[in-house]
Amino acid sequence: MTTAIVVLVAFTVLFLRLYVHYRGKRIVTCPETHAPAGATINAALAAGTWMVTQPRFVVTSCSRWPERAGCDQACAPQVEASPDETLVRNIVAKWYGEHRCIYCAQPIREIGGSAVAPALLGPEGELREWNVLAPEDLPQVLATSVAVCARCELAEDFRRRFPNRVTDRPMTSVQRHLVVEPPSQAVY
Ligand SMILES: [Zn+2]
Repeated sequence: MTTAIVVLVAFTVLFLRLYVHYRGKRIVTCPETHAPAGATINAALAAGTWMVTQPRFVVTSCSRWPERAGCDQACAPQVEASPDETLVRNIVAKWYGEHRCIYCAQPIREIGGSAVAPALLGPEGELREWNVLAPEDLPQVLATSVAVCARCELAEDFRRRFPNRVTDRPMTSVQRHLVVEPPSQAVY
């Protein structure tokens, strides 16, 4: 009896971990248009089938639906081949991991959950948190934007909303002292 409970708990924990692993928005290339599409799969089915034989990936939503609802889900093998690399959160985390904030030059290690997220500064000066963008638009936006950390995003957003309430403080004597002097050109 105890063994049965232990096995049941182990299976439940494994299932939940697999479910969390497989759930989430994804970016696939639509085989019909060869353009990015946002999609999700049935994470419970993928987790359940993983435990029995091998995971089965069935698309449950797509940015091309409902117009193309009932398509042959020819994108599903992409998820099967790259379950991690097609996840939006992994794509975004990898991108921020390779970029520093354009304002403060700090590395960006957190991409944010439901709280404040880092942003993307586009070529036209548009500033948007990455999580408000549609998954299918992300590849293009990531390719043409620079990174802005969550802290600088908040400051810059405030500055843009209330330009009259932001003043650039003159440097204090301490800050002035901290400015690195150019190397001496003197010859000794
Ligand atoms: Zn910053």
